Amino acid sequence: MANFKDKIMKKILFFVGPPGSGKGTQAKKIAEKYHYRHVSTGDMIRSIAIDPDATPEEKQILHDVNFAGQLAPDWFICGLVFRAVEKFIKERNYHGIVFDGAVRTLEQAERINQYLETKDLNRDTTAVAIVISDEESFNRLTKRRICGECREIIPWLKETMKLNECPKCGGALKSRPDDKEETIKARIIEQGNRALAPILDYYSRLGIVKIIDGEQKIEKVAGEVEKAVVK
Ligand SMILES: [Zn+2]
Repeated sequence: MANFKDKIMKKILFFVGPPGSGKGTQAKKIAEKYHYRHVSTGDMIRSIAIDPDATPEEKQILHDVNFAGQLAPDWFICGLVFRAVEKFIKERNYHGIVFDGAVRTLEQAERINQYLETKDLNRDTTAVAIVISDEESFNRLTKRRICGECREIIPWLKETMKLNECPKCGGALKSRPDDKEETIKARIIEQGNRALAPILDYYSRLGIVKIIDGEQKIEKVAGEVEKAVVK
């Protein structure tokens, strides 16, 4: 098999997909394997708390997101992306950056692309869309289970849906009480396929999106992600 490390890979990767699509898992996998910095929106927001350069406005957002449950505004998410890219350009201590969950609106996608143009990185960017149906999203988020003994979370996937006991310790599996159906339905409306459509349209007009069927087994998806990020 060809060694992907010898191939030239895109430097800026945006992973998008509906809730439960496994985009976070796939983003982490590729980051670890090819020495990219993995940047998740959640981690970025939390990092504001300890960032000496954070502005008072950013600290206010951190407060609103943490304590009032609000979605972070577009300018804020974009600012965090720009900051991570600046750091990458200055330090070059990774092959690139994998953004996980950073693009949730068309506005974010457009502003980030305009910014990357100014840094001459827009042609070095790929959007990796891991797509599953809304029904699959709902099933994965409501049918996840947890081991009563070791607390291992068992995702609802082809590989695991038939398990009766924990693969790690043999403990009994229970459904997760925090996976409330109404909350999950609202999340799928907010972040599911309908919300993603204008973003994917935009990226496909730019010719930088790779669409991957996220309902395949994890390793199959991972293989397609690797092919998608090679120039
Ligand atoms: Zn267990």
